[in-house]
Amino acid sequence: MSVVLLFHERSDGQRTEHSGRYFVSYQPTHHWANGDYDGGLLVTAADAREAFQFADAEAALLAWKRGPSCRCHCFRPDGRPNRPLTAYTVSVEPAPAAASMETKA
Ligand SMILES: [Zn+2]
Repeated sequence: MSVVLLFHERSDGQRTEHSGRYFVSYQPTHHWANGDYDGGLLVTAADAREAFQFADAEAALLAWKRGPSCRCHCFRPDGRPNRPLTAYTVSVEPAPAAASMETKA
């Protein structure tokens, strides 16, 4: 069954523009033109029907754990892998019914 990934508040309790929205796409290695890096480029949608549909929960959580492949930001200052989206609490939910009916047809 296809699933979607829903973002909640960050683990520090802070809500952001992505809280309460669904994962659409993520470019973990995206840097701004001046070289700054602020966690990659995440696109979310308020409507679950616009969300990216993962094959299963495992695939959704792999996307959640993705990090940049650049040498400058692939590790955090403490030496652990940088996984920007894991700052968010997320939940995996069934994809909207209309979409799953399409795949059955
Ligand atoms: Zn970098």
